[in-house]
Amino acid sequence: MFLDITDLIKKKTDEKEFSLEINRDMLKRDDFEVKLISPLIVKGKATLDGEDIIVKGSIETSIKSFCARCLKSVDYPLNINFEERFSKKQGEDIYPMLEDRIDLEDMIVDNVILSYPLKVLCKEDCKGLCPECGLDLNEGQCDCLKDAIDPRLEALKSFFKGE
Ligand SMILES: [Zn+2]
Ligand SMILES: [Zn+2]
Repeated sequence: MFLDITDLIKKKTDEKEFSLEINRDMLKRDDFEVKLISPLIVKGKATLDGEDIIVKGSIETSIKSFCARCLKSVDYPLNINFEERFSKKQGEDIYPMLEDRIDLEDMIVDNVILSYPLKVLCKEDCKGLCPECGLDLNEGQCDCLKDAIDPRLEALKSFFKGE
């Protein structure tokens, strides 16, 4: 995922627009893995800032995730805006710059990881799975929950009787 910055370095141009389509099945960082179900579209503009390069743009893709309640697989669209600095100097939040190009890979992976949703739902009102029998409650109703409620109702009834 390299971006050629020769023209910027040689000051032939002030800014370089780019649009990349990257086909990957997944992005990986240590034990973090994101499954991609559509190409990574990375668009933006690179500009020279002193000796550094500032890249500003957007990353679009869809990731495969799972509903936090019913565990059904969910396609989750990501649309990330970023602005990052690339430099030959090292520092916090600075990505490395080579002689005539920059490698966007780490920057893209970082941004996708940061935007990775902690909790995805297949739909806003997903009923989830029954904690007793595992039935998908979006598809039907089991008897487990009724049984769980009944004893409490019984207790209430006898409470009122006792008064
Ligand atoms: Zn769900
Ligand atoms: Zn059940």
